[in-house]
Amino acid sequence: MAKVSINIATGSVQKEEIIVGIDLGTTNSLVAFINPEGNPQVINDMGKGILVPSIVHFHPDGSVIVGNEAKEYLISDPQNTIFSVKRLLGRSFNDIENHKDLFSYKIIDDDTESLVKIKVGDKFYTPIELSGMILKELKDRAEHALKTSVNRAVITVPAYFNDSQRQATRDAGKLAGLDVLRIVNEPTAASLAYGIGLNPNEEKIIAVYDLGGGTFDVSILKIQNGIFEVLSTNGNTFLGGDDFDQAIVNYWMGQNNLVGMIHESSLHQSSLQQALRLKAEEAKKALSTQNIFNGFVGEIPCAITRIKFEELISDKVQQTITCCKNALQDAGLTIQDIQEVVMVGGSTRTPLVKQQVSEFFQKPVHDQINPDEVVALGAAIQSDILAGNRTDILLLDVTPLSLGIETMGGLMEIIIPRNSKIPTKAGKQYTTSIDGQVNMKIAVYQGERDLVKENRKLAEFDLKGIPPMPAGFPKVDINFLLNADGILTVQAVELRSGIKQEVEVKPTYGLTDNEVEKMLMDSIQNAKEDVSQRMLIEARTEGEQMVYTAERFIEKNKEYFSTPEITNTLKLIETLKTTLTSGNKDQILRRIDELNEFTRPFAERLMDQAISTAMKGKAIE
Ligand code: AMP
Repeated sequence: MAKVSINIATGSVQKEEIIVGIDLGTTNSLVAFINPEGNPQVINDMGKGILVPSIVHFHPDGSVIVGNEAKEYLISDPQNTIFSVKRLLGRSFNDIENHKDLFSYKIIDDDTESLVKIKVGDKFYTPIELSGMILKELKDRAEHALKTSVNRAVITVPAYFNDSQRQATRDAGKLAGLDVLRIVNEPTAASLAYGIGLNPNEEKIIAVYDLGGGTFDVSILKIQNGIFEVLSTNGNTFLGGDDFDQAIVNYWMGQNNLVGMIHESSLHQSSLQQALRLKAEEAKKALSTQNIFNGFVGEIPCAITRIKFEELISDKVQQTITCCKNALQDAGLTIQDIQEVVMVGGSTRTPLVKQQVSEFFQKPVHDQINPDEVVALGAAIQSDILAGNRTDILLLDVTPLSLGIETMGGLMEIIIPRNSKIPTKAGKQYTTSIDGQVNMKIAVYQGERDLVKENRKLAEFDLKGIPPMPAGFPKVDINFLLNADGILTVQAVELRSGIKQEVEVKPTYGLTDNEVEKMLMDSIQNAKEDVSQRMLIEARTEGEQMVYTAERFIEKNKEYFSTPEITNTLKLIETLKTTLTSGNKDQILRRIDELNEFTRPFAERLMDQAISTAMKGKAIE
């Protein structure tokens, strides 16, 4: 039996289990719900404000402060005050290396592919744990304001987030004690908030332009019969209002000759830098409505005109327009096909942004709903849909990056191409390369590059227990199942024997409590070795395969070759074998090439032989 509670103020009845919608932002986060009247509403707990700055401060007494109060410590205690943590979610140090100057706190730099960790005092925190603290604050506020427990949520992410970032977000929710029912793309939520497409007869193609504090994305949505379909997405996870602030900071530093005065290495940690950053944000916001800003940080004069500001950020804004062009191209559309443009994110308040976007799409943009709240409001509507209160709408998204597996030679074979609609399912069939092979390694990757080593590894597992059969005989079906949250399940089945293995792909960078801790420490210690080790192993595998094939080839076709040809081949095989145990990767590859070169004409000769035998056969008939 469903429990109900009565809102004493309004006398209305509401279901006990409220599902909230959460916009976990780079700069600010907020939570919304559907009020008893059925409308989305943002939560303003005890008048503390709607936006919760996504900032976590670690106090010397051991307490952790989140939100507005934490923001105050950005200046006085920058090293223990963590901001823009969303930029680090699901990311490795290599991913963020070029942007590390943006952070005033200590990011562990081990120069590897492993998970980023943040050092505060003598403790280490993952971005997932830190995001979990922000989500916990939102949950507490919602519970306090709604006077009921809140255990279920829909959380939004930028459309450009990859699987590991989505998984990280989900894990952060879990740490906060939330059952994350759905991870939803921010543009999808925004269009819901505008109600575009809620009327089932409406047919539209719209662009959602989302410029927040730290991320930018543009999505092209097709809305038809109450169905939202993301045709394409494009963006840059390192572009946003923070960059505008930084541009102003740099300008003031130049104006006041501060660059030489502050030593480079201590620069990003200095509280002066943080004070300038906050002042720059204040100036930027003021310049959204006025033409000039005058202020001071201590003794330092901080003045800027709107014209100057626009000049400083014009490159950045232009970059977003290029992304819009690319998104249109990916969707196979032109500007004329776009009927509406929705603006999302606090930075779309900057007049130059609005003006350029409107000019590009050749129409006025939608900016009626507060751009900070629009995503959370949409997430609340999505939670209402999941609660079964709106059955007329279905949501479809696309996967932003291709998913595939590693094949021979370290090549990426795509199974689900980028921009495929999700949920989706796709598969391919493979076989073994060695007689009697009983195991098959399946390594799952995400990315657009041809070589898997340039892409992101999501998982690796062995399909074990294939019954021994000649090479090429087993039929191994590998299926990818991408659910509506963008979480991937990979299934491998050997069809002749029916043996099966299935993994839900927990992206390498996802958090599972102690496991990740261990994984992280292991990878920090072994990362460099791992890479060279893997390359050596790959070369060895290829070499072993070559020895195996060449030996079988000579054995089966002895009568077609001269004795010196056979002796020389065997000699080359022996050299390769020795190199396999003692040589390095390059030496092994060289030996493989030599053997290949030497035996290639044999194969051609055999082929000719086979053809002429076949021809003779025909002639006799
Ligand atoms: P979001 O990530 O969507 O919360 O966006 C936050 C970004 O919007 C931050 O970079 C803010 O500085 C920026 N922002 C907020 N208000 C304004 C404003 N009035 N004018 C320009 N930028 C703003």
